[in-house]
Amino acid sequence: MRKKIVAGNWKMNLTLAEGEQLVNDILAAGITLSGDQAVVIAPPFPYLQQVKALTRSQPNVFVAAQNCASEKSGAYTGEVSAAMLASVGVDYVILGHSERREYFNETNAQLAKKIDLVLANGLKPIFCCGEPLEVRKAETQNAYVAKQLEESLYHLDAGALQQVVIAYEPIWAIGTGLTASAQQAQDMHAFIRGQIAAKYGQDAAAGLTILYGGSAKPSNAAELFASADVDGGLIGGASLVAADFAAIIKSL
Ligand code: 13P
Repeated sequence: MRKKIVAGNWKMNLTLAEGEQLVNDILAAGITLSGDQAVVIAPPFPYLQQVKALTRSQPNVFVAAQNCASEKSGAYTGEVSAAMLASVGVDYVILGHSERREYFNETNAQLAKKIDLVLANGLKPIFCCGEPLEVRKAETQNAYVAKQLEESLYHLDAGALQQVVIAYEPIWAIGTGLTASAQQAQDMHAFIRGQIAAKYGQDAAAGLTILYGGSAKPSNAAELFASADVDGGLIGGASLVAADFAAIIKSL
């Protein structure tokens, strides 16, 4: 049975005090998670250790970084390596978010290197993919996402792929208030699972967790998560409000 996950990507928001308050409020919201459900919180780098400390007693709550370096170590001022993240207790690393691709020019090839470093350090990548609006309008989103998967993931062997979580985040739905319909999400998730099945086999595809991201909120989470191939969400704005994030978790 594949894992169902609700992950909160704080992006570049909140002070440490605000972040601690948010985590405490989420934990106080009376969430109960079954064995196949997990919550992942992705704060900015400086708060990772604090968020880990606050959530350590919760067996199904994990901490993610929002990025890591594409090099192992060395003279890369300002970068944070996968080994550093592992050393402070991080569990997951979000890679290839569209904001990183767009504003920081991350390429599929660079992301393949990051995936390898994350896996080599015993962490799990949350690999983001998804098409811009013009691609959706041209109805070529499947080919666009297939290329992202191929160029960043398909060098992995089947064992390594088992550690990967995929997040489908259509760029036109991120922070825009425009959500993919449950049908649009399901169609793409089924396509992604089919691609993985073709490359790695049915078992690998059936075990793969695929999250939806893009203006997910309490009012649409249950419908999105009800789709057969949608295994939870990667939440931006609504993860900054404890009541909203808790409500989304309860929709799993
Ligand atoms: P929003 O939920 O704010 O649209 O952001 C989605 C996202 O980018 C999560 O990584």
